[in-house]
Amino acid sequence: MDPTRTDASADPRSDTRVDPRAALEAEHARLREELAATIEAPGQMTYGSQAAAATHVFEQQRDLALRERAEQQLALVDAAMARLDAGTFGRCLRCGNPIAPERLEALPWAEHCIACARLIARGRG
Ligand SMILES: [Zn+2]
Repeated sequence: MDPTRTDASADPRSDTRVDPRAALEAEHARLREELAATIEAPGQMTYGSQAAAATHVFEQQRDLALRERAEQQLALVDAAMARLDAGTFGRCLRCGNPIAPERLEALPWAEHCIACARLIARGRG
């Protein structure tokens, strides 16, 4: 046994931290694909019946809702990446306190700490 030997591989920070940028970039790419897929939906402009036309309108509205959600999510992801560059990532936009690491792991694009997110959700409802 050598008492001067130090175990350099035991750094707890080396593999327990999730890289938020990698997670954000993956989500960014996924949303881009989702948006591209909804754009390419072929528009059939001739309808055999009013029912077919109504179904088409319903599908268009559903696609539009999905698209809007993906665009909102993409904006959140882009904003989080900008905060990473600016060095303010991980801080609540409302109160300035650090956002819990487990929350950032689940939602790397989170803009608010859990306490503020709850207050905001209550205000909206
Ligand atoms: Zn907060």
